[in-house]
Amino acid sequence: MKRPRSLFFSLLKGQKLTLCIVLFCMALTALFTFLPQQIIRYAVDVVLAGNPSFLPPFLESAVRFLGHNSVLGRLVVCALATVAVALVNSLFTYFRSKLSADVAENIAFRLRCRLYDHMQRLPYDTLLSFGTGDLLQRCTSDVETIRKFISVQIAEMGRAICLLACAFFIMWPMSHTMTLISLASVPFLLLYSYFYFVLAKKNFLKAEQAESDMSVALQENLTGVRVVRAFAAQKAEQEKFDRASARFRDLSRRLNDIMSYYWSISDFVIYAQVVLTVWIGTTMALAGTLTVGTVITFSSYVTVLLWPIRQMGRILADLGKTSVALKRINDILKTPIETDTPGSAAPDISGAIEFDHVSFGYQEGQTVLHDISFAVKPGQTVAILGATGSGKTTLMLLLQRLYDPTSGRILFDGQPSTSIQRAWLRKHVGIVLQEPFLYSRSVFDNIAITRPSSREADVQSVAKMASLHDSILSFEQGYQTLVGERGVTLSGGQKQRVAIARMLLQDTPIMIFDDSLSALDTETDAAIRAALAKRRHKATTFIISHRVNSVWQADQILVLEQGRIAEQGTHEELLAKDGLYAKLWRLQGASGESLEGGKA
Ligand code: ADP
Repeated sequence: MKRPRSLFFSLLKGQKLTLCIVLFCMALTALFTFLPQQIIRYAVDVVLAGNPSFLPPFLESAVRFLGHNSVLGRLVVCALATVAVALVNSLFTYFRSKLSADVAENIAFRLRCRLYDHMQRLPYDTLLSFGTGDLLQRCTSDVETIRKFISVQIAEMGRAICLLACAFFIMWPMSHTMTLISLASVPFLLLYSYFYFVLAKKNFLKAEQAESDMSVALQENLTGVRVVRAFAAQKAEQEKFDRASARFRDLSRRLNDIMSYYWSISDFVIYAQVVLTVWIGTTMALAGTLTVGTVITFSSYVTVLLWPIRQMGRILADLGKTSVALKRINDILKTPIETDTPGSAAPDISGAIEFDHVSFGYQEGQTVLHDISFAVKPGQTVAILGATGSGKTTLMLLLQRLYDPTSGRILFDGQPSTSIQRAWLRKHVGIVLQEPFLYSRSVFDNIAITRPSSREADVQSVAKMASLHDSILSFEQGYQTLVGERGVTLSGGQKQRVAIARMLLQDTPIMIFDDSLSALDTETDAAIRAALAKRRHKATTFIISHRVNSVWQADQILVLEQGRIAEQGTHEELLAKDGLYAKLWRLQGASGESLEGGKA
């Protein structure tokens, strides 16, 4: 999708017939808006004053017939005709509002689905760069702006145009002079609306951005509530939010100021126009060049006509707002999605992995991982040890192909990762994150998320392996216990175990524990690893940790230091080397004796 305008027209696909009906209803309601004044003009000029009729002969005969050719009878016919016009007008107004609301709802629905679908397929780093708060704002408030515009303002704009067209064709034959006088302020109002639109649009863009910043501040505060409380950072966070909120308030005020100027000046213009019409109309009536009915009709038309035209300013301003919203949504939709190189395969993945001189940086000119090389056989356990920021997580992100190496290759069973379909690869690499995400659903659903068709026995079996079964049974509703938003009702360790059970159920040939075992107590950690070791199909396992006790049993230990492999080997080999690992082993007072379960 190249431009917001093409996005807008693409959204209208399949809605064109409904839109045509809306336009038809709009034109009819505009026409009906002018009819009551004509009936009044007829009643005053023809029925009461006895002037020659301006109705077509067949209509004149019908009125005379229905009104029994009496003055009172014809006035009653006029009154009934006014009521009938009002009724038909309301009917078409109803259809117009209903159908335009339907079109708007369909478009908003389609837009939300399209956005959601697109975001699912965006590259990981692109999603991170947008930020959750900003994305939420675009998917909710921006879509709502577009929905409102289509539902209300498009109809209003169409109505104003139809009214102007109908007014001209109805007024012109009545009196050329009065038509020109009555419409004298229209060009000014249209021009003024346009200036207002240009001014408002600039400010809308700023206000939208400020609102988005405010949402981001709020979202960060809420998702990081524990950190905020733990570090007593409420004051700083409050100030940050206050600043964002104040900026939004100031920009909204500025917008309101612009709007107030617009309304008050346009109000003055409209009243001046009414006075001018009545004044000149009355003068002409006194001079006998215009009938009283025509003066009443013109003064009434001016008000009927000018209010919707005055609305043009607001419509154009909303158009500005909508075009900003469309642009912000289009920015997401035009961001390229993650695609596999043509010919990517979906091969069998046994768990044999080789890192072949892999280097990687998130940005150009920055290298986070330097020349990483190591090989793992299927079913082996690799431990990655290193200080915060040494590149452990980045290494695992590469393994899942959330990023590709800047140079070097990662081989799965001898096949380069870049020639394997991303989705296929990720299906075979299970991960338990340090901060697992739990859905607001039951414990059962949270575990079964990786295999929704799982039977209860399968879920229970993995829960037992993850040392979680007994804790679940202690809950009143067992496996059906609802986990609150982000799993707040579970302890950190329990959340970890749900995530571990979830991955075990997925039964992938490659498993990653991203610093997740260290959140558990040593006994649970050992029990889980012993259960893993007993599985029929042993998965290739990566354990990321800063705790030596969690990693010493691994077949291979990699010690990372500033993105490089500082040491590599088994526990015994690394102790014999007496380097960084041996130092950590002594520092952490670790002792292999305290762990059970043999090599994981
Ligand atoms: P670890 O898991 O060992 O704590 P990471 O792999 O998370 O380390 O980070 C390694 C380095 O990469 C750090 O210097 C970190 O600042 C940087 N880094 C991590 N994620 C990003 C990112 N999305 N963009 C830029 N730099 C990043």
